[in-house]
Amino acid sequence: MIKGFRGTSLVDYPGLISAVVFFGGCNFRCPFCYNIDLVQADRLKKLPDFSEEYVLKELLKRQGFIQGLVITGGEPTLYPRLLQHLLEMVRTETQLKIKLDTNGSHPEVVARLWDLGLVDYVALDFKTSPERYPELGGRWEPVAQTISILVEKGIPHEMRLTMVPYFIGRKDLRAMAPWLKRASRVVLQRFLDHVERLRPDMELGLYGPDELKDLKSFVEQETAGEVLLRV
Ligand code: SF4
Repeated sequence: MIKGFRGTSLVDYPGLISAVVFFGGCNFRCPFCYNIDLVQADRLKKLPDFSEEYVLKELLKRQGFIQGLVITGGEPTLYPRLLQHLLEMVRTETQLKIKLDTNGSHPEVVARLWDLGLVDYVALDFKTSPERYPELGGRWEPVAQTISILVEKGIPHEMRLTMVPYFIGRKDLRAMAPWLKRASRVVLQRFLDHVERLRPDMELGLYGPDELKDLKSFVEQETAGEVLLRV
């Protein structure tokens, strides 16, 4: 279920030039999701499939230029065997650092990849307060387990908050605080409302630059880790 490959990115792996692999399919339905082609079944089936061998060949072509590989989606942890196979090939054949983007719904996959030495950095999307995860079509408990695994195993990570006013207001941030406290890095990512999204019928709001700065200060009071604003 590898549905996309980008040879070069300057923004997906903090500090590194990276390639990006996109897995198709997701078990969440976030109204603000703009990866619609990778999430909606009718659009997903129109995308071509890429093999692990194809990805490896493309990575080897870029050796010496890229330093990292980002695995994103959709939700890559839905395909643990394919993911493990791809990452084993990448580890054996390249020196690339590997970053995994996840919604946190499969803690056992994150733990296994780390234990096997197949991942160097994890970006966990922390989307709203725990009690509101059903609004995204997801369950909170596995996400909480993923956070515990990241912290307890000492996995380099960031918790990434897409700043959608409807889902992340001050009340939500207060409810998220006990988990944000445990993060080594929190990244507040600006939500862009001008792209197509999964639920165009929902009014989700938009934060301005000053509101985002205020919310960053608010989060800084809640965590000992680094807090960054990505706009
Ligand atoms: S978890 Fe990510 S890919 Fe899945 S629906 Fe939400 S935003 Fe989209």
